[in-house]
Amino acid sequence: MLPYLTPPPAQLKITAVETIAPSELMGNLLLLRIHTDAGIIGHGETYYGPSAVAALIHDWMCERLLGAEALAVESHWRFFYERFGNFGIGGAEMRAISAVDLALWDILGQVCQQPIYRLLGGPVRDAVPVYNSCGNPSYGRRPGGKPGWPGYGSLGEPGPLNDSYQLFHDPVGLAQELVAEGYSGMKVWCFDRAAHRSGGMRISLDDLEEAVAPLRKVREAVGTKLELMVDGHGFFMLPAALRIADALKDIKPLWLEDILKMDNLETVADFRRQCGLPVSVSEMLLHRPHYARVLENRAADYVMVDPTWAGGISETVRIAHLAQGYNVPVTMHDCTGPLTLFAGLHVNAAVPGCCYQETVRAHIRSFYREIIDELPVISAGHAALPTRPGLGVRLHDSLFKSGTNNHRITRL
Ligand SMILES: [Mg+2]
Repeated sequence: MLPYLTPPPAQLKITAVETIAPSELMGNLLLLRIHTDAGIIGHGETYYGPSAVAALIHDWMCERLLGAEALAVESHWRFFYERFGNFGIGGAEMRAISAVDLALWDILGQVCQQPIYRLLGGPVRDAVPVYNSCGNPSYGRRPGGKPGWPGYGSLGEPGPLNDSYQLFHDPVGLAQELVAEGYSGMKVWCFDRAAHRSGGMRISLDDLEEAVAPLRKVREAVGTKLELMVDGHGFFMLPAALRIADALKDIKPLWLEDILKMDNLETVADFRRQCGLPVSVSEMLLHRPHYARVLENRAADYVMVDPTWAGGISETVRIAHLAQGYNVPVTMHDCTGPLTLFAGLHVNAAVPGCCYQETVRAHIRSFYREIIDELPVISAGHAALPTRPGLGVRLHDSLFKSGTNNHRITRL
């Protein structure tokens, strides 16, 4: 009898763990590969604090992983969660678990010669509904590879795929373009500039009008053809958040996302009760205990999960099933890297309660091809299910060169 969380001797042995942070392509991104003695390579990813996450993976997690069974996905997940929990588990730890979890699922899928969603019990749908988040090709990518602050991305400039710029300068043209491409929804973060000016403690009527006017034009131009989601990036305190919600009522957003800071879920629940609009909560949370509190407090109409922040595919599936028990639909976050998007597609394909996948056309059609070997197929407002085994996508070998991209490799 094996002790708790100790997998049997390895049939497929992990021989090396490798990370890079390609900051010139996307600041904050960390890419990971797990090598095995059969030559199968698993691919993983997370976003934010890449050096800290890489340190956790190489300096600590590798002691468990190297020489261990690559297919023992759940055993590794729980082992790391319990060990990290002894020190107050937080964002960097969950990101490290997430990146490793993706790579282990990718290996399992390749061994079984099946896309991951089939190993999770799917498919539950033949394509995944997606919406477009209105960023731009340089959103989240600062010159010199500097990481930047969340919610402080550039508005962009005139030109193709500069959706965040176009929102304020030609909102009708933007909306008509998205409808013509088949999208059924668009997400905007039009209150960020006001938050940067005021610190989020209050919002003036002028600031409200600056942000709401483009959305009013969108609604008037395309009628019911586009859902609108509004992301506040957690910038605002309760009175300002309520004022924002009141100003948005006429444009009928599908959800308000992270208008409030997520540091007090009781206040988020209070906001939901008062605001009169659906509320999405929140990519800023980390694991099941957080989401359980959201659901128990009736703080969300939609649960938003980032699969490479909240514990990988393993934990995201569990969160999604948990939310379904409350009849709260789940939506997958993106804007943080190509494997995050693929991981979200697999969960969407496998869990009935998932309703929407975030996508950023400005990223997919500009620099994602410099990271992955095959882009997601999106048409008529839906993403095709990945077809290749595992995650269904590979990171370019050329990114993993010794001496570049903060490359680290730890071998058996
Ligand atoms: Mg968001």
